[in-house]
Amino acid sequence: MNDTLRVVDIVEGTTVDGPGLRTSVYLAGCEHRCPGCHNPQTWPTDAGRDMSVEDLLEIIDHADFNVTLTGGDPIYQASKLLPLLKALAERGKTVWLYTGFTYEELLGIPDAVALLPYLEAIVDGPFIADLRDTALRFRGSSNQRIIKPNGEILC
Ligand code: SF4
Repeated sequence: MNDTLRVVDIVEGTTVDGPGLRTSVYLAGCEHRCPGCHNPQTWPTDAGRDMSVEDLLEIIDHADFNVTLTGGDPIYQASKLLPLLKALAERGKTVWLYTGFTYEELLGIPDAVALLPYLEAIVDGPFIADLRDTALRFRGSSNQRIIKPNGEILC
């Protein structure tokens, strides 16, 4: 597990990025540049710091919550995420992934497709300020969907 990920932040015990208490990992890099984005500091690919998978697992293990990958858009580091996801699966952790790509777009990105078997749910699509809805659970705007890796739309 030699892959290094670029990580902007890690928040333990959050309740807003999926069900239950979770450890949210904010990964650097996003080219969607949604107007009204709450995390523009995560857009540069060199934001944050390099972390090894082992470093991340140490923090995740200590908190012992399920995990959410967000950012930024984790798909910009998709080619390096597989070792982390495999290790989390071995630990029995469920993983949610937030992305500015739609699910249909993900299906055209081979590195993203490789991640799908290790995810419990994907929250897809860009944040659209005109569709912002604070009543939505785990989503910022109503175009975004919570989808299972097999394409089943949960909401
Ligand atoms: S995809 Fe997410 S992180 Fe990227 S600009 Fe849109 S809201 Fe911000």
